[in-house]
Amino acid sequence: MAYSIAIHGGAGVLPAQHMTPEREAAFRAALDRALTAGETVLASGGSALDAVTAAVCALEDEPLFNAGRGAVFTRDGRHEMDAAVMDGRDRRAGCVAGVMGPRNPVRLARAIMERTDHVLMIGEGALRIGRDAGIEDAPEEYFFTQERYDTLQETLRMEAEGTLDDDPARRHGTVGAVARDAAGNLAAATSTGGMTAKRSGRVGDSPLIGAGTFACNRTCAISATGDGEAFIRLSVAHEIDARMRLAGDTLAEAADHVVNVALPELNGSGGLVAIDAEGRVSAPFNCEGMYRAWAGDAIEREVAIY
Ligand code: ASP
Repeated sequence: MAYSIAIHGGAGVLPAQHMTPEREAAFRAALDRALTAGETVLASGGSALDAVTAAVCALEDEPLFNAGRGAVFTRDGRHEMDAAVMDGRDRRAGCVAGVMGPRNPVRLARAIMERTDHVLMIGEGALRIGRDAGIEDAPEEYFFTQERYDTLQETLRMEAEGTLDDDPARRHGTVGAVARDAAGNLAAATSTGGMTAKRSGRVGDSPLIGAGTFACNRTCAISATGDGEAFIRLSVAHEIDARMRLAGDTLAEAADHVVNVALPELNGSGGLVAIDAEGRVSAPFNCEGMYRAWAGDAIEREVAIY
Protein backbone atom coordinates (compact mmCIF):
# COMPACT_ATOMS: atom_id res chain seq x y z
CA MET A 1 0.00 0.00 0.00
CA ALA A 2 1.11 3.55 -0.68
CA TYR A 3 2.43 5.89 1.99
CA SER A 4 2.24 9.67 1.98
CA ILE A 5 3.01 12.64 4.20
CA ALA A 6 2.04 16.31 4.13
CA ILE A 7 3.47 19.05 6.32
CA HIS A 8 2.88 22.76 6.91
CA GLY A 9 4.90 25.58 8.40
CA GLY A 10 1.88 27.78 9.04
CA ALA A 11 -0.46 30.06 7.18
CA GLY A 12 1.35 33.12 8.53
CA VAL A 13 3.45 33.51 5.41
CA LEU A 14 5.47 36.57 4.57
CA PRO A 15 3.45 38.61 2.08
CA ALA A 16 4.84 37.96 -1.41
CA GLN A 17 6.03 41.55 -1.76
CA HIS A 18 8.30 41.12 1.30
CA MET A 19 9.68 37.75 0.25
CA THR A 20 13.24 37.88 -1.09
CA PRO A 21 14.72 35.04 -3.18
CA GLU A 22 17.09 34.24 -0.27
CA ARG A 23 14.28 33.98 2.27
CA GLU A 24 12.15 31.94 -0.04
CA ALA A 25 15.05 29.54 -0.61
CA ALA A 26 15.54 29.23 3.17
CA PHE A 27 11.84 28.47 3.76
CA ARG A 28 11.78 25.92 0.97
CA ALA A 29 14.94 24.22 2.22
CA ALA A 30 13.53 24.03 5.77
CA LEU A 31 10.27 22.50 4.50
CA ASP A 32 12.22 20.07 2.38
CA ARG A 33 14.33 18.93 5.36
CA ALA A 34 11.27 18.35 7.53
CA LEU A 35 9.47 16.52 4.74
CA THR A 36 12.47 14.27 4.24
CA ALA A 37 12.62 13.57 8.00
CA GLY A 38 9.05 12.25 7.91
CA GLU A 39 9.28 10.58 4.53
CA THR A 40 12.40 8.64 5.56
CA VAL A 41 10.45 7.05 8.41
CA LEU A 42 7.64 5.99 6.06
CA ALA A 43 9.97 4.76 3.31
CA SER A 44 11.67 2.41 5.75
CA GLY A 45 8.34 0.93 6.85
CA GLY A 46 7.92 3.11 9.95
CA SER A 47 4.57 4.23 11.36
CA ALA A 48 2.60 7.34 10.47
CA LEU A 49 2.87 8.32 14.14
CA ASP A 50 6.69 8.22 14.05
CA ALA A 51 6.70 10.05 10.72
CA VAL A 52 4.58 13.01 11.91
CA THR A 53 6.60 13.20 15.13
CA ALA A 54 9.88 13.31 13.18
CA ALA A 55 8.59 15.92 10.73
CA VAL A 56 7.18 18.18 13.44
CA CYS A 57 10.39 17.91 15.51
CA ALA A 58 12.35 19.07 12.46
CA LEU A 59 9.96 22.01 11.98
CA GLU A 60 10.16 22.90 15.70
CA ASP A 61 13.96 22.95 15.49
CA GLU A 62 13.76 25.38 12.60
CA PRO A 63 13.74 29.02 13.80
CA LEU A 64 11.91 30.21 10.67
CA PHE A 65 8.64 28.72 11.90
CA ASN A 66 6.47 29.58 14.90
CA ALA A 67 6.93 26.46 17.03
CA GLY A 68 9.69 25.31 19.36
CA ARG A 69 12.77 27.39 18.50
CA GLY A 70 11.44 30.56 16.88
CA ALA A 71 8.08 30.51 18.70
CA VAL A 72 6.29 33.86 18.92
CA PHE A 73 6.15 35.88 22.15
CA THR A 74 3.21 36.45 24.46
CA ARG A 75 2.47 40.07 25.32
CA ASP A 76 4.57 39.58 28.47
CA GLY A 77 7.58 38.62 26.34
CA ARG A 78 7.44 34.92 27.19
CA HIS A 79 6.87 31.73 25.22
CA GLU A 80 3.83 29.52 25.83
CA MET A 81 3.72 26.58 23.46
CA ASP A 82 0.89 24.23 22.48
CA ALA A 83 1.24 20.84 20.76
CA ALA A 84 -0.77 17.72 19.97
CA VAL A 85 -0.42 14.31 18.42
CA MET A 86 -3.12 11.83 17.43
CA ASP A 87 -2.93 8.21 16.33
CA GLY A 88 -5.59 7.28 13.76
CA ARG A 89 -5.45 3.59 14.65
CA ASP A 90 -7.28 3.94 17.95
CA ARG A 91 -7.84 7.70 18.26
CA ARG A 92 -5.43 7.91 21.15
CA ALA A 93 -4.20 11.47 21.55
CA GLY A 94 -1.79 13.53 23.64
CA CYS A 95 -1.88 17.31 23.93
CA VAL A 96 -0.11 19.97 25.91
CA ALA A 97 -0.90 23.67 26.29
CA GLY A 98 0.98 26.72 27.49
CA VAL A 99 4.33 25.07 28.20
CA MET A 100 7.82 26.49 28.20
CA GLY A 101 10.72 24.09 28.63
CA PRO A 102 10.68 21.06 26.34
CA ARG A 103 12.86 21.64 23.31
CA ASN A 104 10.29 19.73 21.22
CA PRO A 105 6.78 20.24 22.61
CA VAL A 106 5.45 17.56 20.24
CA ARG A 107 7.54 14.98 22.11
CA LEU A 108 5.87 16.02 25.34
CA ALA A 109 2.43 15.65 23.69
CA ARG A 110 3.41 12.17 22.60
CA ALA A 111 4.67 11.26 26.07
CA ILE A 112 1.32 12.39 27.50
CA MET A 113 -0.42 10.09 25.02
CA GLU A 114 1.83 7.14 25.73
CA ARG A 115 2.52 7.49 29.46
CA THR A 116 -0.77 8.75 30.94
CA ASP A 117 -4.51 8.12 30.76
CA HIS A 118 -5.08 11.77 29.93
CA VAL A 119 -5.42 13.62 26.67
CA LEU A 120 -4.68 17.29 27.44
CA MET A 121 -2.31 18.50 30.15
CA ILE A 122 -0.92 21.87 31.23
CA GLY A 123 1.53 23.32 33.71
CA GLU A 124 3.92 21.60 36.05
CA GLY A 125 2.11 18.27 35.82
CA ALA A 126 2.65 18.17 32.08
CA LEU A 127 6.30 19.18 32.39
CA ARG A 128 6.87 16.41 34.93
CA ILE A 129 5.68 13.81 32.40
CA GLY A 130 8.30 15.13 30.01
CA ARG A 131 11.08 14.99 32.58
CA ASP A 132 10.09 11.44 33.58
CA ALA A 133 10.16 10.45 29.90
CA GLY A 134 13.67 11.89 29.52
CA ILE A 135 12.54 14.60 27.09
CA GLU A 136 15.19 17.25 26.69
CA ASP A 137 14.50 20.74 28.06
CA ALA A 138 15.97 23.91 26.59
CA PRO A 139 16.61 27.24 28.33
CA GLU A 140 14.45 30.27 27.49
CA GLU A 141 17.24 31.76 25.32
CA TYR A 142 17.04 28.74 23.02
CA PHE A 143 13.55 29.73 21.90
CA PHE A 144 14.47 33.41 21.41
CA THR A 145 14.75 34.88 17.92
CA GLN A 146 15.35 38.57 17.37
CA GLU A 147 12.85 38.65 14.52
CA ARG A 148 9.98 37.36 16.69
CA TYR A 149 10.96 39.74 19.47
CA ASP A 150 10.93 42.71 17.08
CA THR A 151 7.55 41.53 15.80
CA LEU A 152 6.17 41.58 19.35
CA GLN A 153 7.44 45.14 19.90
CA GLU A 154 5.97 46.23 16.58
CA THR A 155 2.63 44.60 17.39
CA LEU A 156 2.44 46.26 20.81
CA ARG A 157 3.36 49.63 19.29
CA MET A 158 0.73 49.31 16.55
CA GLU A 159 -1.86 48.27 19.12
CA ALA A 160 -1.10 51.37 21.20
CA GLU A 161 -1.31 53.59 18.11
CA GLY A 162 -4.50 51.91 16.92
CA THR A 163 -2.87 50.93 13.60
CA LEU A 164 -2.82 47.16 14.07
CA ASP A 165 -3.69 45.30 10.87
CA ASP A 166 -4.07 41.59 10.32
CA ASP A 167 -0.77 40.87 8.57
CA PRO A 168 -0.55 37.08 9.04
CA ALA A 169 3.25 37.04 9.07
CA ARG A 170 3.25 39.25 12.16
CA ARG A 171 0.38 37.57 13.92
CA HIS A 172 0.83 33.85 13.81
CA GLY A 173 2.19 30.61 12.33
CA THR A 174 2.26 26.96 13.38
CA VAL A 175 3.79 23.71 12.18
CA GLY A 176 2.15 20.38 11.56
CA ALA A 177 2.20 17.06 9.75
CA VAL A 178 -0.19 14.33 8.67
CA ALA A 179 0.76 10.93 7.31
CA ARG A 180 -0.51 7.61 6.07
CA ASP A 181 1.90 4.73 6.45
CA ALA A 182 2.27 1.64 4.28
CA ALA A 183 0.09 -0.32 6.72
CA GLY A 184 -2.76 2.13 6.09
CA ASN A 185 -2.59 3.90 9.44
CA LEU A 186 -3.06 7.67 9.78
CA ALA A 187 -1.58 10.14 12.27
CA ALA A 188 -1.45 13.90 12.82
CA ALA A 189 0.72 16.26 14.86
CA THR A 190 0.68 20.04 15.35
CA SER A 191 2.90 22.41 17.32
CA THR A 192 2.78 26.19 17.80
CA GLY A 193 3.86 29.21 19.76
CA GLY A 194 0.34 30.54 19.14
CA MET A 195 -0.42 34.14 18.23
CA THR A 196 2.02 37.02 18.65
CA ALA A 197 1.15 39.17 21.70
CA LYS A 198 -1.42 36.67 22.96
CA ARG A 199 -2.41 37.00 26.58
CA SER A 200 -0.66 34.70 28.99
CA GLY A 201 -2.83 31.61 29.36
CA ARG A 202 -4.45 31.81 25.92
CA VAL A 203 -4.72 28.41 24.23
CA GLY A 204 -5.33 28.05 20.50
CA ASP A 205 -6.78 25.32 18.32
CA SER A 206 -3.55 23.35 17.78
CA PRO A 207 -3.68 21.23 20.99
CA LEU A 208 -7.44 20.73 20.79
CA ILE A 209 -8.48 17.44 19.21
CA GLY A 210 -11.18 18.07 16.63
CA ALA A 211 -10.18 21.71 16.20
CA GLY A 212 -6.57 22.00 14.99
CA THR A 213 -5.50 18.35 15.15
CA PHE A 214 -7.28 15.08 14.36
CA ALA A 215 -6.65 11.56 13.04
CA CYS A 216 -8.92 8.58 12.51
CA ASN A 217 -8.10 5.74 10.12
CA ARG A 218 -11.69 5.64 8.88
CA THR A 219 -11.65 9.17 7.49
CA CYS A 220 -8.62 11.44 7.64
CA ALA A 221 -5.75 13.06 9.49
CA ILE A 222 -5.67 16.87 9.81
CA SER A 223 -3.29 19.55 11.08
CA ALA A 224 -4.55 23.12 10.89
CA THR A 225 -3.08 26.62 11.01
CA GLY A 226 -4.69 30.03 11.23
CA ASP A 227 -6.87 32.14 13.53
CA GLY A 228 -7.14 29.66 16.37
CA GLU A 229 -10.28 31.12 17.90
CA ALA A 230 -12.25 30.65 14.66
CA PHE A 231 -10.87 27.13 14.22
CA ILE A 232 -12.00 26.24 17.74
CA ARG A 233 -15.47 27.76 17.31
CA LEU A 234 -15.96 25.79 14.12
CA SER A 235 -14.39 22.53 15.36
CA VAL A 236 -12.60 22.57 12.01
CA ALA A 237 -11.03 19.12 12.02
CA HIS A 238 -14.10 17.41 13.44
CA GLU A 239 -16.30 19.20 10.91
CA ILE A 240 -14.24 17.75 8.05
CA ASP A 241 -14.35 14.26 9.59
CA ALA A 242 -18.12 14.58 10.08
CA ARG A 243 -18.75 15.74 6.51
CA MET A 244 -16.84 12.70 5.25
CA ARG A 245 -18.63 10.24 7.53
CA LEU A 246 -22.13 11.63 7.48
CA ALA A 247 -22.48 13.54 4.23
CA GLY A 248 -20.28 11.30 2.06
CA ASP A 249 -17.92 14.13 1.09
CA THR A 250 -14.47 13.27 -0.20
CA LEU A 251 -11.63 14.74 1.85
CA ALA A 252 -11.05 17.41 -0.80
CA GLU A 253 -14.75 18.43 -0.79
CA ALA A 254 -15.01 18.50 2.99
CA ALA A 255 -11.74 20.38 3.54
CA ASP A 256 -12.48 22.88 0.78
CA HIS A 257 -15.95 23.63 2.18
CA VAL A 258 -14.70 24.16 5.72
CA VAL A 259 -11.71 26.31 4.72
CA ASN A 260 -13.28 28.32 1.92
CA VAL A 261 -16.94 28.60 2.98
CA ALA A 262 -17.39 27.96 6.71
CA LEU A 263 -14.24 29.62 8.08
CA PRO A 264 -14.66 32.89 6.13
CA GLU A 265 -18.15 33.19 7.66
CA LEU A 266 -16.37 33.50 11.02
CA ASN A 267 -13.62 35.70 9.58
CA GLY A 268 -11.26 32.81 10.13
CA SER A 269 -8.18 32.98 7.97
CA GLY A 270 -5.84 30.02 7.59
CA GLY A 271 -5.62 26.55 6.15
CA LEU A 272 -4.70 22.95 6.86
CA VAL A 273 -2.99 19.85 5.56
CA ALA A 274 -4.98 16.63 5.46
CA ILE A 275 -4.63 13.06 4.24
CA ASP A 276 -7.40 10.51 3.68
CA ALA A 277 -7.46 6.76 4.25
CA GLU A 278 -6.07 6.15 0.75
CA GLY A 279 -3.23 8.61 1.27
CA ARG A 280 -4.66 11.43 -0.89
CA VAL A 281 -3.47 14.88 0.21
CA SER A 282 -5.55 18.07 0.53
CA ALA A 283 -4.02 21.39 1.56
CA PRO A 284 -6.55 24.21 1.17
CA PHE A 285 -5.99 27.72 2.56
CA ASN A 286 -8.05 30.90 2.34
CA CYS A 287 -5.24 33.41 2.74
CA GLU A 288 -2.23 34.54 0.72
CA GLY A 289 -0.21 31.41 1.34
CA MET A 290 0.70 28.52 3.57
CA TYR A 291 4.17 27.00 3.89
CA ARG A 292 3.48 23.44 2.81
CA ALA A 293 4.97 20.31 1.28
CA TRP A 294 4.04 16.73 0.58
CA ALA A 295 5.51 13.51 -0.74
CA GLY A 296 4.74 9.83 -1.02
CA ASP A 297 5.57 6.74 -3.04
CA ALA A 298 2.59 7.34 -5.34
CA ILE A 299 2.37 11.16 -5.39
CA GLU A 300 4.64 13.83 -6.77
CA ARG A 301 6.83 15.66 -4.25
CA GLU A 302 5.81 19.29 -3.83
CA VAL A 303 7.08 22.25 -1.77
CA ALA A 304 5.01 25.44 -2.01
CA ILE A 305 4.37 28.75 -0.26
CA TYR A 306 1.77 30.83 -2.18
N1 ASP B 1 -3.63 28.27 15.01
C1 ASP B 1 -2.56 28.82 15.80
C2 ASP B 1 -3.12 29.34 17.09
O1 ASP B 1 -4.18 29.93 17.06
C3 ASP B 1 -1.82 29.90 15.12
C4 ASP B 1 -1.52 29.64 13.67
O2 ASP B 1 -1.64 28.55 13.18
O3 ASP B 1 -1.14 30.56 12.97
O4 ASP B 1 -2.49 29.21 18.10
